[in-house]
Amino acid sequence: MDKNLDLIFREQSHRRFNALSGEWVLVSPHRTQRPWQGAVESVPSPDRPQYDPTCYLCPGNARVGGVHNPKYDSTYVFENDFAALKKDAPLARLALGKKGLLVAETERGICRVMCFLPRHDLTLATMQPPEIAEVIRIWTAQTSELAAVSGIQHVQIFENRGEMMGASNPHPHCQIWATGTVPEAPARELASQKSYREQNNSCLLCDYVALEQAEKQRMVCSNDAFIAVVPFWAVWPFEVLLCSRRHLGSFPELENEEIAQLSSILNQIVSTYDRVFEVPFPYSMGFHQKPFDGSAHPEWHFHAHFYPPLLRSATVRKFMVGFEMLGTPQRDITAELAAEKLRSLVDNV
Ligand SMILES: [Zn+2]
Ligand SMILES: [Zn+2]
Ligand SMILES: [Zn+2]
Repeated sequence: MDKNLDLIFREQSHRRFNALSGEWVLVSPHRTQRPWQGAVESVPSPDRPQYDPTCYLCPGNARVGGVHNPKYDSTYVFENDFAALKKDAPLARLALGKKGLLVAETERGICRVMCFLPRHDLTLATMQPPEIAEVIRIWTAQTSELAAVSGIQHVQIFENRGEMMGASNPHPHCQIWATGTVPEAPARELASQKSYREQNNSCLLCDYVALEQAEKQRMVCSNDAFIAVVPFWAVWPFEVLLCSRRHLGSFPELENEEIAQLSSILNQIVSTYDRVFEVPFPYSMGFHQKPFDGSAHPEWHFHAHFYPPLLRSATVRKFMVGFEMLGTPQRDITAELAAEKLRSLVDNV
């Protein structure tokens, strides 16, 4: 990049375009000097037992509603006891008036919970890569199974980690929600990837990965099969976008070697996060796969997003309020500075 331009975009307020979502983000680097730096939250205690008799996800324990978990010794998947969606909801549509002002549709879906392993005290940062590879194989099997269910069009795998993100239980687990429609965020990304492919005859994220590989300043870590960057358009302070190097659309397309590479880079990203403020870093993360609606979707590129809320320290988080809620999301430290910080903490194994 031109030196003058580089300086301007490092120091001056500007907008950046999110090519994936089609939205803009406001970047205000000079604001990092302001005195008030956000609310202070208590630091979560990292010491946890291997087994917690009060945890509803530990093997053998009772869940609310009385069901007992089996004494599982690897991963364990079950239907969410308080599922947000039901697979047998009656199909109905409501449209009041003729101008589309009051419209509602019933939504069908399947919500599952998956424990990564029996140990209560581990996380993706402290699990061994072979254990994470087993988790990925189950994500793959769950994706295939749910995508084949009639009426299902999308499979969302996501993990909420930390009380700050509303995770009700520290036991290492994720959720798998299969829905009858493509949810909002992937639907926007689908539209962007589709129109990019039509205009350029190439893939948006393949092209983006090539640019980031050449620019290097937003790279966090990478291996032969995956690359992790703080995306150019990041909203959250230490947001990370993880992309496969090969153009593929979903978990079932991953080859064995790619599963191994994905398990090691997931471990690398999350353990890097834990080193930023020396606490288990809270985040919401999830994989975006192509829709399973019967079309091939050659425009879709498999990726994951990490959205961590922490800003200045273990106790200061970012809130999306005020102008962000009413106008445009905004960040203070640039994506390049955040990437530099993360890169310096990556444990290169
Ligand atoms: Zn537990
Ligand atoms: Zn691609
Ligand atoms: Zn996405």
